[in-house]
Amino acid sequence: MADLTHPDEAMRLVLDGIRPLPAQSRPLESAAGFYLSDDVDAACDLPAFDNSAMDGYALREVDGKAASKNSPVSLSITQTISAGTVPTALVVGSAAKIMTGAPLPAGADTILPREVAREYEGHVELLEAPSSGDHVRYKGDDMRAGDKLLPAGRRLRSFEIGLLAGQGFGEVRVHGRPRIAVLSSGDELVPYTELPTLGRIRNSSGPALAAMITAWGCTPVSCGIAADREDAIKAAIERALEHADVLLFCGGVSVGDFDYTRSALNTLGFEERFWRTAIRPGKPLLFGLLNKKPVFGLPGNPISTLVTAEVFVRPAVEKMSGSRGTQEPFSVMGTLEASFKKPRSLRHYLFCSAKTGADGKTLLRVLEPQGSALLGMGARANALVIGPEGVSDLEAGMELRFKWL
Ligand code: AMP
Ligand code: MG
Repeated sequence: MADLTHPDEAMRLVLDGIRPLPAQSRPLESAAGFYLSDDVDAACDLPAFDNSAMDGYALREVDGKAASKNSPVSLSITQTISAGTVPTALVVGSAAKIMTGAPLPAGADTILPREVAREYEGHVELLEAPSSGDHVRYKGDDMRAGDKLLPAGRRLRSFEIGLLAGQGFGEVRVHGRPRIAVLSSGDELVPYTELPTLGRIRNSSGPALAAMITAWGCTPVSCGIAADREDAIKAAIERALEHADVLLFCGGVSVGDFDYTRSALNTLGFEERFWRTAIRPGKPLLFGLLNKKPVFGLPGNPISTLVTAEVFVRPAVEKMSGSRGTQEPFSVMGTLEASFKKPRSLRHYLFCSAKTGADGKTLLRVLEPQGSALLGMGARANALVIGPEGVSDLEAGMELRFKWL
């Protein structure tokens, strides 16, 4: 199968054809999942002032040095400091009662937690000797003004959003996220809300793909179903590209008599980068650019559609969204429970049921039969496992890379 592009080369060709979308400003509260377009520097120190990490007592180490459970040291409590208030300096030889997050009074160098103290009549008994710096959160410990807070290309998770909020950023500069057109094609297809007559089937790949796109945090643009005619597909492509940054075809990319996707694209000036890659399912995958926009022809069988979207479209979408180098998704290892035969020349994506035992090892059971139209199999699987190319017999006990589904 010399005419099949190696999957690694196919991935390289896809990523080569992708440029990040322009940057935009977004309010912080709607920026989760977006990728920073610029480095962000810290505007202020965090924490902004020395403060207590515990509810307890602020004091000087020297004043509590002699304390132990059997011979506690007693100090008078000279102030109570709640979070959000400004304390006075610590009276030498005394303790200040302090709450979590409250500023450390000048002169105090340690906090003794409430759990190792006993309070009575305006005094506190220290049941342990504190050490200088215990339970104190010092100004600038986490971040210093002017340090690099976050790098360009970073995806904004809840941690980053919290960090930016803590620094007072109301808006951030991020790349846009692509609108992704989904166009199904096939004379046999009816919308899934309709009853198919004999020989026809419901469009399941289109909605499945739209759901995957939504799960990525992007917006799917559903373009319905085009008939298996070159002119119908051409018109649908032109309409779809008006409203989207990426076009995903579902079906019509194989070698059947009525597979017109490729020829319709070619009449419009499509720059094809590859057609057909050495994987199963999803071998007929097509990729190229039309009017500089990425176009994927995904095979129409729903399992093939979803595998090719997950493996090839997702990294492309992440790069378009401003990601710089994505994490390898098939990074977990599992042990194959029983042997399985696969075609030697293909990288085989296997739908498996995975179970992690008490020893932390994950056992992988290949669901049988595997099939590119079997959505029931897909719904029963919780792991997508790579059966590597160059191997035909996957033996029981083999360690394979997989991704949780
Ligand atoms: P194609 O990729 O057009 O050669 O179609 C391959 C197989 O997938 C055929 O059995 C089609 O009926 C089926 N198929 C194509 N598109 C869809 C779709 N949107 N939903 C469900 N099945 C589809
Ligand atoms: Mg078809």
